Amino acid sequence: MDTRLSIAVQKSGRLSEKSLDLIRSCGIEFNADSRALKASAADFPLDFLFVRDDDIPQYVADGVADIGIVGRNELDESGIELDIVRDLRFAACRLSIAVPNGYPYSGIGSLEGKRIATSYPRILSTILKENGVSAQVVVVSGSVEITVEVGIADAIADLVSTGTTLKMNGLEEAECIYRSSAVMIARSDMDDGKRAVLSRLLERIDAVMNARHKKYILFNLPEEKLPLAAAAIGGMKSPTVTPLMDKGWLSVQSAVDEDRFWSVFEELKKLGAEGILVMNIEKMTE
Ligand code: ATP
Ligand code: ZN
Repeated sequence: MDTRLSIAVQKSGRLSEKSLDLIRSCGIEFNADSRALKASAADFPLDFLFVRDDDIPQYVADGVADIGIVGRNELDESGIELDIVRDLRFAACRLSIAVPNGYPYSGIGSLEGKRIATSYPRILSTILKENGVSAQVVVVSGSVEITVEVGIADAIADLVSTGTTLKMNGLEEAECIYRSSAVMIARSDMDDGKRAVLSRLLERIDAVMNARHKKYILFNLPEEKLPLAAAAIGGMKSPTVTPLMDKGWLSVQSAVDEDRFWSVFEELKKLGAEGILVMNIEKMTE
C-alpha cells in the first residue's frame, strides 16, 4: 500500500476553514462532513483527523497524526517540542496585556505583585520571568476578559486580533507580549515515505502561499522606458518583454508583490504605461 500521511486539523473554530481552504487550494479533494472525525483525500495520500486545537500538538507528538495545523500559541503553551515546518501566516493574533481603563501601565514591570488572568500560563510565565517580574498568574480556560470585573484579577493576558472584545469589557490593550499565527507542525521521526509525501504537500502549499501574496501585471510601455519600469517592478526575475507591432512599444509582464502593488502601479503610469492589466495568480513556484 502507498504511504499515506495523516494531518490533524481543528474540527471547528478559527483555524478550521482556512486550514481546509489551504489544502483544497493545493488541489487536494476530500469530503469534510462537519460531524465526521476523519476524512481521506482521494487524489493525494492524505488522511484527516478533525479534533480540538488544544489536542493537536499531543496527537502529533504521540503519532496519532503525522502533521497538524495549529496556532503557534497552542504549540508553545503545550510545551511539546515539535518541528514547525511552515508558518502558514493565517489566524494571526497577539497575546496582549490588557488592563482596566485608567490603569497606570508603563511597561510589564507595572505588573509586579499583581494578579494576571490568562489561558496561556506557560507563555505568560516565561515572559514575566524573562522580564524579572513576579506576579500571580491566575489560570482560566475561557472568558478571560471578565476576570477583572469580577475581582479575581488586576490585569489579563489574552489573545487579541482586533481589540473590540476588550473594549466591550472596559479593558484596554496595554502591550503586545507575543505574536502567533497558524503553523504546520510535524513529528521529527517520520519515515522516508511519509517525509516524501510531506515534501510534495509543502511544495504545493508554498506555491499557493507565494501566489497569494503576488499579482500578475501586464502592460504596454514605450521602449525607452523599459529599464526604469524593470527597476520599479523589482521582483524575482527580469520581466517578460514582447515587441508590439506598433514600433517603439513593448508589452511587458511580471509578477509583483501585493504589498508593493499600488506603488508599482503608480510608478508605471508615470512612465507612460498603458493598458495595465492586473491578474490574480492561482499557483506560483519561485
Ligand atoms: P477548540 O474548540 O478547537 O479548542 P478554541 O476555542 O480553543 O477551539 P479558537 O477560538 O477557534 O480556539 O482559536 C483557535 C486559534 O485561533 C487560537 O489558538 C489562535 O491561534 C487563533 N486566533 C486568531 N485570532 C484569535 C482571537 N482573536 N482570539 C483567540 N484566538 C485567535
Ligand atoms: Zn482550544
